[in-house]
Amino acid sequence: MQKLIIANWKMNLGLAESRALAAEYKKQFAGWVNTQIVACPSEFALTTVAKELKGSKVSLGAQNCFWESKGAFTGETSATALQEIGCQYILLGHSERREYLGESCRQVNLKLKNVLSATRIMPVVCVGENAKVRKAGKHLAFVDGQLKRALTGIKWREARLVIAYEPIWAIGTGLVPSTQDAAEMHLAIRSRLIKLMGADLGRQVPILYGGSVSPANSTGFLKIVEVGGLLVGGASLEAAKFNKIANFKQK
Ligand code: PEP
Repeated sequence: MQKLIIANWKMNLGLAESRALAAEYKKQFAGWVNTQIVACPSEFALTTVAKELKGSKVSLGAQNCFWESKGAFTGETSATALQEIGCQYILLGHSERREYLGESCRQVNLKLKNVLSATRIMPVVCVGENAKVRKAGKHLAFVDGQLKRALTGIKWREARLVIAYEPIWAIGTGLVPSTQDAAEMHLAIRSRLIKLMGADLGRQVPILYGGSVSPANSTGFLKIVEVGGLLVGGASLEAAKFNKIANFKQK
C-alpha cells in the first residue's frame, strides 16, 4: 500500500507564509508518485493553499472540524464546508487540541461520525499517551481506550479511516520511541481496529506514526510493518526537509 505522509503546519504560519510554503510543496512534489502527500494549513489559509496546490500531487487537509454540518455554533467550521473548499483529509483529536481546548474522546467520536456520514473526506484520528502514562507502563491500555471511545457506535461499511499514533512526549521534543516500542503500539492498534471493524476493513486502515519525525529517523519508522505513513509537524515547515522525509524509497 502507498504510504501516506501528512504535514501538520499547525498555527505556525500566516497567510503569505502559507501560500509560499504551498508553492514550495508544489515544486518539491511535482510528478510525485512514491507516496500520498497531504498538507494541513491553518483553517484561514485553506482556500489560498487550495488554489496554490491546484494541479499538484499534494492533497489538502484540515486540522479540525465541528461535529454538526450547520447551525448556531459560533467560530466553528463544518466538515461539509471543508469539503467544499477542497479538503480531502481532516485531523481529528490532535493531542494539542485535547490538551489546550479540552477536546474529549466523545467529541472526537461525534466529529468522526459527522465526517463519515456527511462527507467523502478521509478522517485521521490522532491518539497517543503522555510521558506519565508511558512511564507507568499503561500506554497500550490508554491508547486502546482512546480508540474504543473515538470509534464507538460506528457501523463500518468501508475502511474510510486513518489512525495517527502520536505519543505526546515525542511531539516537538526530539524524543522518539524505539522501533520496538513503536511496532508494539502499532500492532496493538491494528488488533483493536480488527476487533472494531472486522478483519477485512480493520486491516486496510493506515496507521501513521507522528512525533519528532525527521529525515534521519523517517525511514526507520516506515520500515515497521504496521506503519502506513507519517504525521509530521515541525519538519514539514521546510519543503526540502519534508521532501527528504517523504522520499524515503530513494535513500
Ligand atoms: C504533530 O504535532 O502532529 C507532530 C508530529 O509534531 P512534530 O513532528 O513537530 O513532533
